[in-house]
Amino acid sequence: PARFARLRITGFKSFADATSIEILPGLTGIVGPNGCGKSNIVDALRWAMGESSAKSMRGGEMDDVIFAGTLSRPARSIAEVSISLTETAGLAPAPFQAEAELEISRRIERGSGSTYRVNRRETRARDVATLLADLAAGARNSAMISQGRVSALVSARPDERRMILEEAAGISGLHARRHEAELK
Ligand code: ATP
Ligand code: MG
Repeated sequence: PARFARLRITGFKSFADATSIEILPGLTGIVGPNGCGKSNIVDALRWAMGESSAKSMRGGEMDDVIFAGTLSRPARSIAEVSISLTETAGLAPAPFQAEAELEISRRIERGSGSTYRVNRRETRARDVATLLADLAAGARNSAMISQGRVSALVSARPDERRMILEEAAGISGLHARRHEAELK
């Protein structure tokens, strides 16, 4: 599977200024005092990967992810998060098949919704979802499990639990494709 290499955050939540975070191979921990922005980093990662629920971004509407300003700084009108993935060659569908690195960006402008780009090419949200599912395919892929979902997994109905496990197993991309095929 592909590997997260870098996260770039601008105007997203508490990250008013452009911030670049390198993600090295192995285990990554994020430490810091309460309220310093640790969860916002994870939110940024999930948001750029297509999270569509404002509530799961801990806000009322999606525009709430945009830096809202402080006593000393005005609010921003645009938020942008980019994820760089490496070791992607052969995993992505056309036209990204041969690329060894992919940069997936999501940008939101106050009042006008968000757009996605893959290597600077504008891409539909659902194609980003399929791309991410393809990049995760493999026996040792990453899965994102938030605090709340650990207990959700334990108490889930069998069909819900199957969905969570399929997502973690990297086969939800197949379902996304089947769903799209059925719509056509
Ligand atoms: P804890 O250790 O308590 O979990 P944390 O490091 O995870 O803290 P976060 O939840 O990431 O902290 O960050 C919370 C901070 O982000 C708060 O100060 C909040 O005001 C700020 N914040 C959230 N959304 C925005 C926004 N849109 N604009 C500006 N600041 C924001
Ligand atoms: Mg937190």
